[in-house]
Amino acid sequence: MRVEYSKGERASRGLIQLHRQASEAASGRKMKVMLVFPPDWYPSEPYLSLPSLTSVLRAAGHQVIQKDINLEMYDWYFSEDFLKRVLRRVPQQLDRLRKLSKKRELAEWERDVQLALCDLTREYIAELIKKAETAKHIVRSQEFYDADKLEWAINVFREVTGVISLVYAPARICMPPMETDLSYKVFVSSELLDAVQDIQVNVYRDVFEHLLKPAIEAERPDVIGISIVLQQQLFSTMTFCALIKQHFPNIHVTIGGNTVTRLRDVLPDKPELFALFDSAVVYEGETAFLQLVEAVGAGRELTSVPNVIYRDAMGIHMSPLSFAEDMASLPPPDFDGLPLEKYFLPERILPYLATRGCYWGRCEFCDHGEGYTAGYRTKKI
Ligand code: SF4
Repeated sequence: MRVEYSKGERASRGLIQLHRQASEAASGRKMKVMLVFPPDWYPSEPYLSLPSLTSVLRAAGHQVIQKDINLEMYDWYFSEDFLKRVLRRVPQQLDRLRKLSKKRELAEWERDVQLALCDLTREYIAELIKKAETAKHIVRSQEFYDADKLEWAINVFREVTGVISLVYAPARICMPPMETDLSYKVFVSSELLDAVQDIQVNVYRDVFEHLLKPAIEAERPDVIGISIVLQQQLFSTMTFCALIKQHFPNIHVTIGGNTVTRLRDVLPDKPELFALFDSAVVYEGETAFLQLVEAVGAGRELTSVPNVIYRDAMGIHMSPLSFAEDMASLPPPDFDGLPLEKYFLPERILPYLATRGCYWGRCEFCDHGEGYTAGYRTKKI
């Protein structure tokens, strides 16, 4: 059995050009787009989706701000500012547990958290701040190659995330490995929505307030696109979407990426989840997202945009068109604007995708075709 790539009617390049010309004629307005990579992902190098979309949008004359919020979040976690916030949350957490203990007997894990919170003194946190800054320096410098120092730095990251977990309990913040658990099930939409509103465990609400909201206030983009690779990123993404809609209701919010593509049959049936954003781009995103941005700028219907699920006053709709990129004609990724010096590795790594689809396509267990609408294609290097 070959990998199945067909996903409905394929839009031709000529049709795409016609739609882009219609948007241009209706408005011609150049748009400001903010692209966001959400937590949690190991912050070793930029994820390729943002630079890939950026190059296509900039080539069409649109302004792009790239925000690797995942990287910024870890840089913030291991900083004086964040750890002092943790310290300020300690009395509030002890008070919460004390009140809870008057209503019912605390569970064993709650008593453990209570005891551990008592150990978070001003002196301990001051020492942890110094260790966290040193650990960041180690992973970003040649000291990374000293195995003992690297192990010490990784253990400091674990110690810090363990401490953060105490003030967001029962959430378990974890890095490395990337196994943060907000104590909700990610693929149950009602739990996802509950997690979004949970101010006790949802650390991403604070990440939004401190990192993303000020950036949006400063830039005032027309469109925000959030790229999701892992299922776990749905928690941070839906939190960001909900808070963007609360504070900036006029910004068009789009989600995309591999996880969104795999949820394409489920999303239209989840209006309560879809209410948090305006549209979703599935499969390959370059042409679809550019066309979406230009259609939003021109105030045109999104029905002609391929690879898109969108919401309007009438409900949630799926575009009948799909589009697969001609890789040879795509520009190289554009990393300008990303803080490359902040990634947690001593060497700079810039990812580059030279092929899409699979040349073989015959492995029975493989679901590679779920993410694409066309087979093997290559790009000149
Ligand atoms: S070679 Fe890899 S991508 Fe291709 S069908 Fe087999 S498992 Fe899937």
